[in-house]
Amino acid sequence: MSKRTALYPGSFDPFTNGHLDILLQALAVADEVIIAIGVHAGKTGFFSFDERQSLIAQSLPEELQARVSVVSFDDLVVDAARRNGATLLLRGLRDGTDLDYEMQMAGMNGAMADDVQTVFLPASPETRPITATLVRQIAKMGGDISSFVPTQVQQAVAEKLGHAT
Ligand code: ADP
Repeated sequence: MSKRTALYPGSFDPFTNGHLDILLQALAVADEVIIAIGVHAGKTGFFSFDERQSLIAQSLPEELQARVSVVSFDDLVVDAARRNGATLLLRGLRDGTDLDYEMQMAGMNGAMADDVQTVFLPASPETRPITATLVRQIAKMGGDISSFVPTQVQQAVAEKLGHAT
């Protein structure tokens, strides 16, 4: 059977335990997962692309590193999938709000590219509430994010904000 390559697109700013949960589930259905970080000209995130890429690599168990890569994209997600040789498009579902939005995107992406199959993966109960946006807000207000992100991400966030860990 040919290799199954999946694209997992998002902002990953920063990479959270929720993203890690979906990535680990994805590696059970795909041989290789390409994390595609959406970058927009003129819009800088909390972490740069290079920082996000490096934090994802540092957060992965060593035995999985060979099956995961990180790229950037600034065009249609289906074009990014095709360019990277991916036939699966992964999205995590946390709740009904995610579902409504993701159904629209899956429908329109499917209409544009019937060679790219969207696959929804359900959030695990422990990581389901986590969003990168809230992680950033909590950290900026001095809150403890250690149960929401990998240790390396927690340290990098603290350094960026000039807090001690
Ligand atoms: P966020 O919504 O946290 O800012 P992204 O835009 O980077 O994250 O999301 C990329 C993908 O990861 C989306 O499919 C999103 O639904 C999924 N995702 C994000 N957080 C979680 C989580 N806690 N559990 C499951 N999936 C998640």
